[in-house]
Amino acid sequence: MTWAATILTLYPDMFPGPLGHSLAGRALAEGIWSLETVQIRDFATDKHRSVDDTPAGGGAGMVMRADVLARAVDQVLERRPGAPLLAMSPRGRPLDQALVRALATGPGVGILCGRFEGIDERLFEARPIVPVSVGDYVLSGGETAAFVLLDACVRLLPGVMGAPTSGEEESFESGLLEYPHYTRPYEWEGRRIPEVLRSGDHAKIAAWRKAKAVEETRLRRPDLIERHGDARRPPPSGAQREEESERK
Ligand code: SAH
Repeated sequence: MTWAATILTLYPDMFPGPLGHSLAGRALAEGIWSLETVQIRDFATDKHRSVDDTPAGGGAGMVMRADVLARAVDQVLERRPGAPLLAMSPRGRPLDQALVRALATGPGVGILCGRFEGIDERLFEARPIVPVSVGDYVLSGGETAAFVLLDACVRLLPGVMGAPTSGEEESFESGLLEYPHYTRPYEWEGRRIPEVLRSGDHAKIAAWRKAKAVEETRLRRPDLIERHGDARRPPPSGAQREEESERK
């Protein structure tokens, strides 16, 4: 079945944009996934077709109106009753690989893209919409965030990636960053590919990669280790033990 994405946006011409190329573009052409845009402005009722208004309480910028958005959202919910409806928002649940995987195994997704200062809060109270954030920074609109989410989902759909296993060993799938990669030439600017990778000993290579993944995650993203528990921690060295007891 086709994985179907419906995007509610003021800028439908932005789509498929980057998702029309490479893996996602090919999969779109092959019908592995489909993309439909809904122009939010079509649901405005006044003669200026306005979708936003000044913020209650004052302040800079404009806020997207709940009544206009609700009409657009209701139409999508009615047509796609089984699919989750998300709204891109810096105040949302942080997007991670677990959420991406859950979405990719479902029927598809509806995505509401915000603009201006954001969306009238009452919309989130009144409709089953899940706010999702792509990171702790502020974009000018939800469309680029939607590209990120869709790209991450589409590459997991059956038939999109070449090797069926290549999605399983990657960063975050095991709660760790991935091990480093190397390819020819063997020597470049005096730097050689680690010998173990040329040994042909698959067990040794797997062990090296696992150790590297743990080491790099501890170094670069200790928060991931914290979140996934101590099971993946190598036994702490003397220095680390001291550090840890100092913290206590
Ligand atoms: N004033 C808001 C930011 C609005 S940015 C605040 O400070 O929270 C305008 C739109 O861009 C948002 O409605 C949302 O759809 C999108 N956006 C901005 N940053 C985002 C992020 N980190 N993740 C997902 N969407 C984001």
